This record gives sequence, structure tokens and C-alpha cells, in this order.
Amino acid sequence: MAIFEPTDENLSKAGELIRQGELVSFATETVYGLGANALNPEACEKIFKAKNRPHYDPLIVHLASVDQVDDICKEMPTKAQQAAEAFWPGSLTMILPKKDVVPDSITANLDTVAVRIPNHPVALGLLQNAKVPIAAPSANPFGYLSPTTAAHVEEQLGDKLQIILDGGECDCGVESTIIDFTTEPPELLRFGGISQEQIESVCGKINLGKPVLERPLAPGQLASHYSPNTELIILKEGESAKETDGKVGFLKFGDQNLNINVDQTEEVSLDGNLEEAAHNLFSALHKLDDSNLDVIYAYEFPDKGIGRAIMDRLKKAAVKL
Ligand code: AMP
Ligand code: MG
Repeated sequence: MAIFEPTDENLSKAGELIRQGELVSFATETVYGLGANALNPEACEKIFKAKNRPHYDPLIVHLASVDQVDDICKEMPTKAQQAAEAFWPGSLTMILPKKDVVPDSITANLDTVAVRIPNHPVALGLLQNAKVPIAAPSANPFGYLSPTTAAHVEEQLGDKLQIILDGGECDCGVESTIIDFTTEPPELLRFGGISQEQIESVCGKINLGKPVLERPLAPGQLASHYSPNTELIILKEGESAKETDGKVGFLKFGDQNLNINVDQTEEVSLDGNLEEAAHNLFSALHKLDDSNLDVIYAYEFPDKGIGRAIMDRLKKAAVKL
């Protein structure tokens, strides 16, 4: 059993492990992370190996406080500073020009680095104890559903880890929003915990950019991500599901109903609350995927606020290669 309560003693031990170049999984408000000392390329190599993650997918570096940005980034444009003031600690990741201390192997050889200050006492406690920046993607095998509980991590990567710091269910439940502040206007590269509307209210107009993984680095490889093993089909409002002899799962939001017989329903929010749906999304998909179903259905989510982050995850989960 690799799951530990985040006591002072365990946080201190975990910080020591990070300094020694080992992996630690920890709770954040978005999803559980798989962390290593960001300034130690051999340690970060263990992340890529444990997740089976390709090196063209760069890592996010987590910091304990905003004054650490200066240690790893060449500059922080005014809009990035404004965003930091408004949303950090929180689920916003910023792309900034990197300093040479950041290993090229964790940025896919880009001259920029992704940075974030997480808003969770376990993540912050670990960062304070480790006293180094921590590179951490989600603690799941590459391409599979993200983990939002310590049990999800244990199930998927437990045999590769000495310690998973338990912080309960992740509050936000979807990954951070990623904004590239090296361009003007800044570009949104991934929908996430903080909505485009919230960011624009602080930074002005944001363009929609192409995420690293959708640029022609690795053609055709990465439309699929966050995926259950079971087939997932997304229906438009009013669209019907096909009759089937197989077992059917339904990811239900608000008062939606499916037109065919459903064997298992997971409700992400009874009263149609998008924040609550994001919080429950991956847990519901994990449960459905563990239930020997033949197909999972979901309806499209509203195209606003965190609904866009949910739809982004669902669309990528529905692609089978
Ligand atoms: P995650 O898998 O949640 O850790 O998210 C990491 C994602 O951040 C990557 O898949 C990239 O899309 C994005 N990312 C990380 N570093 C950079 C960078 N330097 N420039 C652009 N996007 C980045
Ligand atoms: Mg991930």
C-alpha cells in the first residue's frame, strides 16, 4: 500500500524523496500529480518511464510561490503577472520563456516552460518540504483517464511508487487551464479549471491556440487522450443512442435521459451544475470503465465556462485509434 496521510512527517519524507531524485504522487486541486525534481533530468526521466509518456509531451513545473518563477523563467510579462495575482495559487498554468537550468528533456526542447502554483495544502506542503520545483503530469499511464483520488493512482501506478500523498478527492477534477503568455495576445492552449471568461476578465482578449500535442510534431498520434478502455459515444442534444444487446453505461448530467435501456448510470451533477460535473467527471468515467460495459454514452456539455474543459476531455476520450 503506497497511500499515506499528509502528516508533517510524511510530507517531510516525501520532500526528501524528491530531493533524492525519486518519484512522489500527490494530491492537487486539479488531478493527482506524479512528481519529480524538475531540475534533475534523471529524476524526471522516471516520470516519462512510469507513465510511458512520449518525450514530445512536455511537463508542467509546480512551484511553491511566485518568487520562484524568477529561478526558472527569463521573464514574466505584465499580463502573466496580473493573471498570477488573480489566479495563483490555482488551476492556471502559464507558458513562459525558460532559463537554462530547466532541462530541455522536460520541455520537449522548447525554449519555454509551463509553470503553475497549485492550490492544495498537500501539493504546497510537498513543494515547501522539497525546496525544489516539482515537474508533475497527471499520475496515470499516458493516454488513460486522469486520477482524481489516491485510489485511482494506486490502481494504475501503485507498483511504481513508494508514496502517494492522499488529499482526498480533487476539488476541481479537471486539469489546469494552459495559457501561453509568450505571445500577444496570449493564447489559450488547453481548457481547464479556470474558464476563458475568467481569464479574459483579467488579461483582456485571449486567442485560441494549438496545444503542443496537436501541432504536427507527431501526426495523428494524439487526438486520443484521457481515454477509458470502453467505447465512449457523445450524443448531441436530442440525438438517439443505437439499440444494442450489449451493456450500456450512461454519464448523466442534470435531468438527461437515454432512449435505450441503461445498465449503469453515473450522475455527474443532479441539478446540472458544471463545476460539480467537472469535479465528478473522471471518477464517474473510472467507475463506468471498471464495470464491464460495452459502451458508455454521454450528451454534449454546454459550451461555456468549465463545460468547455469537460467537452475537451470527453471528445479526446471518445476517440479510439
Ligand atoms: P499534463 O499532461 O496535464 O501534465 O499537461 C502538460 C501539458 O502542458 C502538455 O501536454 C502540453 O500540452 C502543455 N505544455 C507543457 N509545457 C509546454 C510548453 N513549454 N509549451 C506549450 N505547452 C506546454
Ligand atoms: Mg495528463
